[in-house]
Amino acid sequence: MTPRPPAPFFTLITGAEVYAPEPLGRNDLLLAGETIARIAPRIELPRDFAARRLSAAGKYAVPGFVDLHVHLLGGGGEAGPASRAPEITLSRITRAGVTTVVGLLGTDDVTRRPESLLAKAMQLAAEGISAFVYSGSYQLPLATVTGSLRKDLALLPAVIGVGEVAISDHRSSQPTFEELCRIAAEARVGGMLGGKAGLVHLHVGAGPRGLEPLRRLVRETEIPIGQFLPTHVNRTPALLEEAIAFAREGGFIDLTARGRNLNFRPTVAEAVQQALAAGVPLERISLSSDSNGSMPVFDARGRVVRLAVGEIESLTEDWRRLVAEGLPLAQALPLVTANPARRAGLFDRKGSLAPGKDADLLLLDRKLAIDTVFARGRCMVERGKPRVKGTFEA
Ligand SMILES: [Zn+2]
Repeated sequence: MTPRPPAPFFTLITGAEVYAPEPLGRNDLLLAGETIARIAPRIELPRDFAARRLSAAGKYAVPGFVDLHVHLLGGGGEAGPASRAPEITLSRITRAGVTTVVGLLGTDDVTRRPESLLAKAMQLAAEGISAFVYSGSYQLPLATVTGSLRKDLALLPAVIGVGEVAISDHRSSQPTFEELCRIAAEARVGGMLGGKAGLVHLHVGAGPRGLEPLRRLVRETEIPIGQFLPTHVNRTPALLEEAIAFAREGGFIDLTARGRNLNFRPTVAEAVQQALAAGVPLERISLSSDSNGSMPVFDARGRVVRLAVGEIESLTEDWRRLVAEGLPLAQALPLVTANPARRAGLFDRKGSLAPGKDADLLLLDRKLAIDTVFARGRCMVERGKPRVKGTFEA
């Protein structure tokens, strides 16, 4: 469907400290085309073997980040046309170390349509990363490409679920219990037919109902708890408490990176520590950026002073802060690699470093700054600078 980006067919990366995300020690990695061919302490190639050779001595090699929540077309619009947030560009994504995105619509499904979202994902895939989408938006009836969520999931390769369906929010469609049941059932069956996760990605607003609509779905239907992924659960201490209880019962939860602009309390690092301390298994937690959504910036008295745009870099910044505040690298990495890849049903190709998997990997320096980014075997970022830019990027 998408043209393979031109790249030297073989790349040999030597001497990296590999976190796959589990620590594997010092290794060489051989990339063949878009795939990881081999990881071993020493890989010898014949001298006349045509390959790009790259020393990663003193660097960490980790899986490319998987971001399950990106407004690829821009979100916002809730404060009138001037508040429509801009589209994201390829190099913003790759510079943040993200090699797989899942795109979505937000409040506005009038001027942003699922067809355009799908086309944007196809563009990013043609430019070299991996891009998927959710059908739907905040609203009901669901915005879909084919007219049916089930058909979108069964027939469109890039569609992996539905979202972000808004609950407990003044901007939602105020979905009834029966409507939420129907959405979850369509996602489950469509996912089965298409061999997808059929993930139900729920935007949880600041309303007092919190996670209750989701908990009732789990209590009163046969749909497994693992079908759902509520996000923004670090919005308030009370919502985080609820999310921790949900995760302890077997649910998955997604935290939103705060970056410079978002005023969520607690911080991501506090939320992760609190969840782990309460006995939530690490594999049930993921972190996403909410990039290119609009974010109100408040002054000290809580008044909106301007609208900012969510930045995908906030994912990397908050992730790095997790490690700075004491979470071991091997525990911090799954939150942005293996865990989201599993939620999206992409773990056979994404989210870890192993032979046969897609060659999506980052080389990080000792301060965890992004030095080099490979997406599907192609070097997208080198020494922190984008080497490949989007079609219309200057
Ligand atoms: Zn949201």
